[in-house]
Amino acid sequence: HLPYRDDTAHVPNEDLGEEAVLSIISNLTHIIKLVFPNTKVYSALGNHDYHPKNQLPPAQNNIYEQTAQLWQGWLEPESQTTFRTGGYYTENLLNRPGYRVVVLNTNLYYDQNKATEEVDDPAGQFNWADHVLTEAANNKEKVYIIGHVPPGFFEKKRSKPWFRPNFNKRYLELIQKHHSLIIGQFFGHHHTDSFRMFYSSEGSPISTMFLTPGVTPWKTTLPGVIDGANNPGIRVFEYDTQTLLVKDMVTYYLNLTHANMAQARWEKEYRFTESFRVPDASPASMHQAVERMASDRCYLQKYYEFNSVNYDLTECNSDCRVDHVCAAREVDFERYEHCLEKERASSTGVAMLPVLSVVISLVWASC
Ligand SMILES: [Zn+2]
Repeated sequence: HLPYRDDTAHVPNEDLGEEAVLSIISNLTHIIKLVFPNTKVYSALGNHDYHPKNQLPPAQNNIYEQTAQLWQGWLEPESQTTFRTGGYYTENLLNRPGYRVVVLNTNLYYDQNKATEEVDDPAGQFNWADHVLTEAANNKEKVYIIGHVPPGFFEKKRSKPWFRPNFNKRYLELIQKHHSLIIGQFFGHHHTDSFRMFYSSEGSPISTMFLTPGVTPWKTTLPGVIDGANNPGIRVFEYDTQTLLVKDMVTYYLNLTHANMAQARWEKEYRFTESFRVPDASPASMHQAVERMASDRCYLQKYYEFNSVNYDLTECNSDCRVDHVCAAREVDFERYEHCLEKERASSTGVAMLPVLSVVISLVWASC
């Protein structure tokens, strides 16, 4: 069970205080414990799980301290120590030998976080993670990484990153260095449903970061994004019980329009392998999915509707295609800009070739 938190209301700073933030984290922790009394929970801090919001410090503070106490039943003693100083921890995954989870506090890398602006390695987290992953490799372990704010770009707003550039680069280097043991990265923050690809220097897909949609609906306040909201979504990952490799994802959702008119009803939205016609959710299959989105309007439109959890059913036009494809494909800042140029050029090329457009329209109906 992997809550990517952001427990508190997304309201202006002055509306919440430290006490309110802690009592909301406490309420949600109790609800999760009530519903899943015997389930091991790996919980990561979100940028709203602090007051003032986004300003998570690279050092000990009262909120990390109080949250460590609230999560006592979930955190092992060693995890509590690192959580208190930096909001991160590592544990044996589900107490299985050979498997490990690394829960990061990537809010430290958020460009809105002034507390870490001048810090080279906030709370020593990069150094720590590099050390943990090196040890894990020595012990032949496989690792899941969990975090909240993701690296790379927001797919709904062109050239909108979350990390500061130096932190984005360092995160990418960490994954490229240790990819052979990383079998999944699970993040949130966007409230939308997307994913990020990581490639080797030779261009082969080496890792995927899954961005799970939010349980809470949220309409983005970013200028230029029209009606950027989502229906509430919940994701169930299916994995091989022997290898813990991610095999599939099933997303459930609540149609808010229906819920407001009649009755609230959670229903299945989609199964990943069925919708994208791929064998599993491995990096190779995720790469296939992103290339299908890039070249086939039918897959692109499907992905686009899932992206807002079936809230925005308008057509994903050529600008939209470029934004979503490049955000999924490139986490690196420079490579992302390069992708924009390349894909914009290819969009124009398609528009100028009527024959190709007919072929594309025919393919439209077939996915
Ligand atoms: Zn967030």
